[in-house]
Amino acid sequence: MQAAEAATKAAAESQTRRMVDNIPDLLRENPDHPHWDVVADRCLSCANCTLACPTCFCSDVEDVNDLTGDHTERWRTWDSCFTADFSYVHGGSVRRSTKSRYRQWLTHKLSTWHDQFGSSGCVGCGRCIAWCPVGIDITAEAAAFAAGPQQSGG
Ligand code: SF4
Ligand code: SF4
Repeated sequence: MQAAEAATKAAAESQTRRMVDNIPDLLRENPDHPHWDVVADRCLSCANCTLACPTCFCSDVEDVNDLTGDHTERWRTWDSCFTADFSYVHGGSVRRSTKSRYRQWLTHKLSTWHDQFGSSGCVGCGRCIAWCPVGIDITAEAAAFAAGPQQSGG
C-alpha cells in the first residue's frame, strides 16, 4: 500500500502539464468561443481519446438475432461521443460537426461532469494526449479558453 501511494505521489510530482483554474466555468460560459473552430480544424473525430480515457463510459446497445428467429441477444458495445451515430435521434444526428463533438467531449469531461458526479471527469493521466494522432493536448486546449477572447451568443 505504501509503495502504491509513493508511486502515485511520484507520478503526480512528475507532471509537467497543468489544467487551468476555473475550467468548469470557462467552458460553461463559452459555448461559442472561436477556439472551438480552431481545434475542430485539427481534430479528426477519430475517437481515440475517448477509447483511451479511463473515465469515458459511453456505450451503445445492439439487438441481434439468428436467422431462425429463435435466439436473440442484446449486446452492449463501446461507443464514443465522437461518432456521428452516437447522437442520432430520429431523423439524424444532433452533433453533425467535429466542432460540436469536440465541444461536447471537453465540456462534459471538464465542466458538466462536476454537476453530474461532483468531480472532474479528468484524472490527469494524459492518455488522450498520447494517443491523439494529431497531437491535440487537452491541457493546451483548455488553456486557450482562459487566454483567448470570450464570446457569447452567435
Ligand atoms: S487526461 Fe483526462 S481526458 Fe485525457 S485520457 Fe486522461 S482522464 Fe481522460
Ligand atoms: S484523438 Fe485527437 S483527433 Fe481523435 S477525436 Fe480525440 S482529439 Fe480528435
